[in-house]
Amino acid sequence: MTTTLTRLRMATQKSGRLAEASERLLKDAGIKIRSSKGQLTARATNFPLDLMLVRDDDIPTLVGDGVCDLGIVGQNVLEEYRLDPANEDVDVLCRLGFGGCSLRFAAPADEAFELANLEGTRIATSYPLLTRKFLEDNGIQAEVVTMHGAVELAPRLGIADYVCDLVSTGQTLEANGLKPVHTILESESVLIRTRADIGSEKSDRADALTTRIDGVIATAE
Ligand code: ATP
Ligand code: ZN
Repeated sequence: MTTTLTRLRMATQKSGRLAEASERLLKDAGIKIRSSKGQLTARATNFPLDLMLVRDDDIPTLVGDGVCDLGIVGQNVLEEYRLDPANEDVDVLCRLGFGGCSLRFAAPADEAFELANLEGTRIATSYPLLTRKFLEDNGIQAEVVTMHGAVELAPRLGIADYVCDLVSTGQTLEANGLKPVHTILESESVLIRTRADIGSEKSDRADALTTRIDGVIATAE
C-alpha cells in the first residue's frame, strides 16, 4: 500500500523554460503523470511520486527545507540560493542536459569593454549574490541593483550602467543595444535532493527514480 507519507515529492517548474523538458524527462523515465490544467500538483499513476508545480525560484528552498524530496532547477537559481548562508544546502544528483544558458555581464554594444570598466558603476541583475561574489573575487567595487525582470532595460532607463543577466542566444541583449562581455556562470538544469532525513522507504524510492533518470540522461548523451 502506498501511503501519502511515503510518496515522493518532486518540485518542478510550473510553466516556463524548464517545465516541458522536466515533464519530458519524467516521461522518458517511464513515469506517467496525471496532470490537469492549472493544478499546483500532479500525480504519477505508476510510481509513488507527486509533483509540486512551482516557480523555479522556490525550488531550492522547497527541497532544502525538506518540503520536497527532489527538484529540477537551473544551476543559476541553485548557486544564487547556495550563496545565502541562511539556506539549507541540497545535494546535486546529476546534470540533466537541458535549460543551458550562461550568466553574463553585458555592456553597451559600442563599448570597448574590459572588467576594470565595472569599477564604480551600477550593475543591474536578478542574481545579486552571484554578481557580488564575482565582483568581490575580482577586487571590483560596484553597486549591484536587484531587478526581478526586464534587466536588459536598466541601462536604457538610466538605472544601471551594466547588466549581469542570463543569456542563451544573446538576441534580447542585442535588441536592447547590449552585448555579452564576460561570463560568470555556465548553467544547465540539475536534479537536486534534500539533505533532510526522509526515511529508508522514501530514500529507496528516490534512489530508484534517480537511477531511471540517470538512464535517460546516459542514453541521450
Ligand atoms: P518562474 O515563473 O518559474 O519564476 P522564470 O521567468 O524565472 O520562471 P524562465 O524564463 O522560465 O524562468 O527560466 C527558467 C530557467 O531556464 C532559468 O532559471 C535558466 O536556468 C533557464 N534558461 C535557459 N535559457 C534561458 C534564457 N535565455 N533566459 C533565462 N533563463 C534561461
Ligand atoms: Zn523564476
